[in-house]
Amino acid sequence: MKAFSGGKLFDGEAIQDGMAVLVDGARIVALLPEKEIPASAARIALDGRLLAPGFIDLQVNGGGGVLFNATPTVDAIRAIGRAHRVCGTTGFLVTFITDATEKMAAAVAATREALKAGVPGLLGLHLEGPFLNPAKRGIHDARHIRTPNQADLAILAELPVGCTLVTLAPERAPEGLIETLTKAGVVVAAGHTDADYDQAVAGFRKGVAGVTHLFNAMTPLTSRAPGMVGAALDHGPAWCGLIVDGHHVHAASLRVAITAKPRGTMILVTDAMPPAAGGRARFDLGGRPIRAEGGRLVGADGTLAGADLDMARAVANAVDLLGLRLEEALRMASLYPAQAMGVRDRGRIAPGQRADFVLLDDRLRVTQTWIGGETDGA
Ligand code: ZN
Repeated sequence: MKAFSGGKLFDGEAIQDGMAVLVDGARIVALLPEKEIPASAARIALDGRLLAPGFIDLQVNGGGGVLFNATPTVDAIRAIGRAHRVCGTTGFLVTFITDATEKMAAAVAATREALKAGVPGLLGLHLEGPFLNPAKRGIHDARHIRTPNQADLAILAELPVGCTLVTLAPERAPEGLIETLTKAGVVVAAGHTDADYDQAVAGFRKGVAGVTHLFNAMTPLTSRAPGMVGAALDHGPAWCGLIVDGHHVHAASLRVAITAKPRGTMILVTDAMPPAAGGRARFDLGGRPIRAEGGRLVGADGTLAGADLDMARAVANAVDLLGLRLEEALRMASLYPAQAMGVRDRGRIAPGQRADFVLLDDRLRVTQTWIGGETDGA
């Protein structure tokens, strides 16, 4: 038994003082006043820092110099997880973007193997594409955007692998696909979509649960055409992924959107690419050179190519750029993404929850993490 004590504690609701967390193996067994810590428990001193539920990131293409699309392997997933763990992420969906059918099959197989091998932090897979709308492709390779062929359908029939999220353009999805995926336990999100408002609403009715990187690569909200953005904001239950890097979306647009939505539906994602979490500034995306430029990642024509962002910075940005309370920013990085994926044992510090923690100093820098009660040794 371990007792985490001597710091502040964010339990998912409020920041508490004078409380300790008791952990047995991978699980939290109790929250209790520090003076009630059993003598047998090994004490872990938090040194006045803030212990919070570990961050959960639903969109991680890469990090630490590694790109999952380039190397869809168990080792790559492990390396990406290790890089982001330093930035507080203790749960993630490794994200594979639009690519050839064989490579997508390799990504699914690697994720399954990595889950079996117990790669720390890996929750499952996010397939962002290839069933998108080419009109809103962003950096996705137009040559590989398609409606599902027979081989694609066979891959989709193997899902879910762990927690699985599929981002697709609902207006292009073949009849019955959204319903089939949803019934199998896959979470479906709309993204890279040219859907008008009616098509977006029809998607929600079929089972689309959320929206990938709200505002980016979708129809905007205008006076007579609410578009995908308007539909997402107006449809209460739909969750929205937000890239809060100071580049993808203006802070005012984000504040308006957050105000419009019910609590619990706005989620921080990183959309991280190889430069994030300690990687080099340049990388190759399917044969196209991407470079970092003033904090943005761009292709040759200036198109944004994911983000150089980690979860700790996303949380800090949500506080500094959007004016959110720290508690809400932390929930947007842990509890809300867990809920969006139907994961019930993460996102809070409470008895029965997994002992996945991030320890933050007063400038929101990550000093240590634990996954299933095991520290990274930092
Ligand atoms: Zn995208």
